[in-house]
Amino acid sequence: MNKNLYALFASRFPKDKSAACMILADGRAWTYGDVERASGRMANLIVSLGLKPGDRVAAQVEKTAEALVLYLATIRAGMVFLPLNPAYQRSEIAYFLGDAKPGLFVCRTQSLAVGAELAKAAGVAHVLELSDAGTGSLIDAAAPFPDAFETAKRKRAELAAILYTSGTTGRSKGAMLTHGNLAANAKTLHAYWHFGRNDVLLHMLPIFHVHGLFVACHCVLMNGTAMYFETKFDPARALQLLPESTVFMGVPTYYVRLLQSSAFGAASCRRMRLFISGSAPLLQETFDEFQKRTGLTILERYGMTEGGMFTSNPYIGERRGGTVGLPLPGTEVRIVDDRNALLTHDEVGNIQVRGENVFVGYWQMPDKTREEFTSDGFFKTGDMGRMSRDGYISIIGRSKDLVITGGLNVYPKEIEELIDAMPGVLESAVIGVPHPDFGEAVTAVVVRKASVGAGETNAAKTTAQQGGRANDALLAVADGDAPSPSESDVIASLKQQLANFKIPKRVHFVSELPRNAMGKVQKNILRQTYGEN
Ligand code: AMP
Repeated sequence: MNKNLYALFASRFPKDKSAACMILADGRAWTYGDVERASGRMANLIVSLGLKPGDRVAAQVEKTAEALVLYLATIRAGMVFLPLNPAYQRSEIAYFLGDAKPGLFVCRTQSLAVGAELAKAAGVAHVLELSDAGTGSLIDAAAPFPDAFETAKRKRAELAAILYTSGTTGRSKGAMLTHGNLAANAKTLHAYWHFGRNDVLLHMLPIFHVHGLFVACHCVLMNGTAMYFETKFDPARALQLLPESTVFMGVPTYYVRLLQSSAFGAASCRRMRLFISGSAPLLQETFDEFQKRTGLTILERYGMTEGGMFTSNPYIGERRGGTVGLPLPGTEVRIVDDRNALLTHDEVGNIQVRGENVFVGYWQMPDKTREEFTSDGFFKTGDMGRMSRDGYISIIGRSKDLVITGGLNVYPKEIEELIDAMPGVLESAVIGVPHPDFGEAVTAVVVRKASVGAGETNAAKTTAQQGGRANDALLAVADGDAPSPSESDVIASLKQQLANFKIPKRVHFVSELPRNAMGKVQKNILRQTYGEN
């Protein structure tokens, strides 16, 4: 049987091809028939350019219906899709093109000159353009080709996509995902989250990332129903579309932003059956506030580029705040110490995963791949966590975030949770910075409620200067009445609750934490900023 992922989706498309697949911001709908025909034309074009199965198609484009069709056309033709964040700069693109050696690079109209130059230097034969409005030479070149295309035969173990990890240290690594990996996770999530005939997903995530491209779009394509396909997250627009939707997927920042709107509440969610959060930790405060406001409980799940989703809170049963739920069917999750010995309940250790969804390795990095898998085939996620007696998993942080001070391990999350619970504190990030005596010194960076929007150091500015992508969200409205704890207040409060070695040596205040496009706090930037002080 053909294991091409597109063939799986096509088998799930509705019989009535005039049914909507994507509904755009201007109200235009792309039907399933449109998607089939447009992906057919584009697949014919890609083959005509001389690309062979297994060749890469790189795309650094805005989120449009045509961009999603390009993804589908690529896998349908048997090529390997390589999505790139539009925020990447010249040197980053040069690296990805040089490393992945795609046969075709599709870029935005405004990047065409640079794209063509970088492609030439990397030996990429073809460059086409897709504008932010979904037009351009890619569409023009595909137009004369027939709509019909026989989906290429692919085996489960053959590659469908390479996604470069956002790696905070060293070279960004290309995670190789097969048709079998993606199909396994798509089937699991579609069933686990109870997708059904009446579902309409509100899609506001970017599609260069596992969350928006695979988790969200695959659930819809497996379901053969419609999604509102919006270019970006916008709380006001979400408020308009939520009453017409049944499922929403977002990063925690989206939920914080929704809650900032007094218009958001049970009425906005009258048709909604499921809110899913992931890609970064959801604060307990957000989880509780959301429940209070809407009567609905956010379902938090956990996963990564290297394998899609690994765990999820249950659809039916207890969704426990502060946890990422239970291992998904088909994925084994275990917590081990540094020698790979299994830990018992509630002990903090390294999270490892195994399953059909887990990727097959890093592109052209066989040594790195070997290092990241155990001899019995588990992938070392680099995340640290613990499992409760009844199987719920909590993420404590990345192992790279672990602070070792005077030879003792400090888990930032433990301290962050205590600081976050202090009156007047919105959120915090705890890092280790080099220290002459202790090796590393525990350092806290805190956002006070009263200071949001005020003139305090904006750590996110540093992100922008470094070419990163700061989240443009302000995390809360200024609250003039909130208490405003000082450095000594924070330290005094922690001293009552924690062993001395865990107490931050310094507490810095900022108006916003630097975050990447997926809402993750960029601790590497904080380490750079405060490491020199
Ligand atoms: P990415 O590959 O960009 O999706 O990043 C994956 C990483 O995001 C994981 O290894 C975790 O560190 C983090 N992550 C994803 N989901 C969650 C979650 N629900 N809670 C905490 N961290 C998460």
